[in-house]
Amino acid sequence: MENNSFKTFELIEKFGHEQVVFCSNKELGLKSIIGIHNTTLGPALGGCRMWPYATDEEALIDALRLSRGMTFKAAVAGLNLGGGKSVIIGDSRTIKSEALFRAFGRFIEGLSGRYITAEDVGTNVKDMEYIMMETRNVTGIPIHKGGSGDPSPVTAYGTYVGMKACAKHVFGNESLENKKIVIQGAAGHVGVHLCDFLHKDGAKLFVNDIYEDKLKPIVEKTNATIIPGEEVFSMEADILSPTALGAIINDDTIPQLKVKIIAGAANNQLKDEDKHGAMLKEKGILYAPDYAINAGGLINVYNELEGYNRDKAMQQTEGIFDVIEKIITIADEKNIPTHVASQEIAIERINSVSQAKRIRIYRDQELFKQRNP
Ligand code: NAD
Repeated sequence: MENNSFKTFELIEKFGHEQVVFCSNKELGLKSIIGIHNTTLGPALGGCRMWPYATDEEALIDALRLSRGMTFKAAVAGLNLGGGKSVIIGDSRTIKSEALFRAFGRFIEGLSGRYITAEDVGTNVKDMEYIMMETRNVTGIPIHKGGSGDPSPVTAYGTYVGMKACAKHVFGNESLENKKIVIQGAAGHVGVHLCDFLHKDGAKLFVNDIYEDKLKPIVEKTNATIIPGEEVFSMEADILSPTALGAIINDDTIPQLKVKIIAGAANNQLKDEDKHGAMLKEKGILYAPDYAINAGGLINVYNELEGYNRDKAMQQTEGIFDVIEKIITIADEKNIPTHVASQEIAIERINSVSQAKRIRIYRDQELFKQRNP
């Protein structure tokens, strides 16, 4: 890639991928990279991102980074899934066509179930329907076509129960009654449902969104107070719930924080994972690792593979309470930041399953030797 094949393999080795697939169809303008990071626990499931990457290398790095993240997410959530993600290079407003997605679907079909796709930034339900014309290895399709529909209420529920686990640890009680909670991105798909769950638990909500008019129905329903953007990080409250954007926990915002817990659905909240995760720990703020607390969406599409049932998906999502508790316990015991504890849980699970598989293969080999002396 970029006339530097060594760099391509260096990158793949650095991220530790099993397989990276480059797909091309010049006539249709399809250039795609599928990253299959680890399939120890099951098929690699992760969305397809369509983005006008400036260089092929940028696209490759994104595919590698995102698919590796999915390995940890699925492992911590206790799902029998590996980590995968794909990218299609191009502008989602101009390059989309039925033919392009069907061609992409045929590439996925060629992987015989090692990779299962879903929606991500730049792709939507309609695109998944085109992919489904060529392969069954696609999720995130509409309910009327046997899919799981919008995952946002499930993501919100998982974020809510994960927040309760944090509250139990910090306040000695999982109830969120009278707790002051700041929600950034409250008018979004996840935010709206999260506000509902929190309100029913008796929390006092302080909401913010760039689309302030969309907050009005939330205020009417939940008695929330609208706060300006500049107060999101500086307000004195019990919990901050980042549910809009990534990279918002950073050098600028951490010194402003006057909360005891950060627990929100947004992806990649820590701008620099190690640096800012450690800074939060030092400041005595409990951080619920984003990919662990927002796993409800992944749990939802996982259920699609087994014949979708929303009640079952919600029930399974309740397990996020235990996952967050376990992360906090390990972080406390080892005196490490929560994001590190979360990674340890994921790696330990993958290693133990991988070891068990190896032992099994070894036993089979021994049996074979005995039978064929
Ligand atoms: P969304 O686009 O529907 O909502 C995001 C909201 O944030 C919007 O209302 C937007 O106006 C607001 N926003 C954007 N920038 C803002 C800013 N600077 N200040 C305040 N508000 C701002 O997205 P969503 O589906 O609700 O997802 C929210 C977050 O959760 C994203 O980071 C997403 O990656 C993550 N997530 C979502 C799901 C899911 O099931 N939808 C699953 C896992 C993770």
